[in-house]
Amino acid sequence: MSAEAIHGEEQHDVVIVGAGTAGVSCALECFDIQLDAVVLEADERPGGQLVEIVNSVRNVAVGTFRDGPAVRDSLEEAAAILSHRLRLSHPVTRVDLGDRWIEAGPHRIRGRALVIATGTAHQQLAGAEDGAFGGDVTSLLEARSGRFVGRDVVVIGGGDSAALDALELAREGSKVWLVHRSDALTARHDIVEQVRREKRIEQLARWELESVDGSDRLEGVTLVRRADGARRHLEAGGLVVKIARVPRTDLVRGQLELNRKGAIIVDPTMHTSCDGVFAAGDVVAGAYARVAAALGQGSVAARSVLRYLQGEN
Ligand SMILES: Cc1cc2nc3c(=O)[nH]c(=O)nc-3n(C[C@H](O)[C@H](O)[C@H](O)COP(=O)(O)OP(=O)(O)OC[C@H]3O[C@@H](n4cnc5c(N)ncnc54)[C@H](O)[C@@H]3O)c2cc1C
Repeated sequence: MSAEAIHGEEQHDVVIVGAGTAGVSCALECFDIQLDAVVLEADERPGGQLVEIVNSVRNVAVGTFRDGPAVRDSLEEAAAILSHRLRLSHPVTRVDLGDRWIEAGPHRIRGRALVIATGTAHQQLAGAEDGAFGGDVTSLLEARSGRFVGRDVVVIGGGDSAALDALELAREGSKVWLVHRSDALTARHDIVEQVRREKRIEQLARWELESVDGSDRLEGVTLVRRADGARRHLEAGGLVVKIARVPRTDLVRGQLELNRKGAIIVDPTMHTSCDGVFAAGDVVAGAYARVAAALGQGSVAARSVLRYLQGEN
């Protein structure tokens, strides 16, 4: 955006990009230690990917939650104290890490320190992008509730969410092929047991998606087994893609050190390779993608910012 299009400029101690678990945790810690922080969030509500968790969340020591949206509600309640410091529907479109400013719409906001907490996004498969074939290809089954009833469906992925979606579809009466590249499912053991018991689910280990076909609607998919080049065509009316997510680092690419997966490399204090710029949560290289880990990293990042700013004075 040109300088003329910028309406005024603000300055804060810390500017946090992303109000998922890590960003909110960082902002709350900043609030507690009296750092002047603002958080910019693209979505209308905080919580990021929490909304996608359909299973119960039992591994966050502060409580047992019915599902991800329940964790999100709790996070949102805690974030209320941030008041105007939490700016929702404010996608950050540009950053200059060297000069430490970000742009969100017509606003430029400077921080003495920045924290990147932009999390991860769904990975799209070439030719089978989210919403293709009139919505028969999806990465978010909940958003297409009821759509696949009575249709055969291919689910791609071997983790918790792929397995849970396969179970949900089978419960609705679909025949489901659960396709994954690995030798075995990597989902939680109790979920794997449920998959094993469900007769409508056929597991296809060591296969991957090669192509999809159809016109207005999806008609089928072709799988390939890389080990021996074997191919298999499945007539399916739905394709649910639940493969590994990718770090959202387009904004900062070229301005700090990323690993080969595009995740941000940090030291143990969550400091990135760029002076005064920190990162936290799933966007960080080697992150253990868990709510508790994101909460902890957000908090550590805030404390490290404080130390950094004290050292600056
Ligand atoms: C299906 C599923 C099931 C899971 N199950 C569990 C579980 O049972 N237990 C568990 O502990 N963990 C689970 N997780 C993992 C857990 O949800 C994540 O590790 C955690 O929520 C990551 O938080 P985060 O803040 O790092 O990232 P995110 O939640 O991805 O948040 C990043 C935020 O940044 C915002 N953002 C991105 N770019 C911009 C931008 N340019 N401008 C402004 N805002 C931006 C996004 O809108 C988002 O709100 C699950 C995840 C999924 C997807």
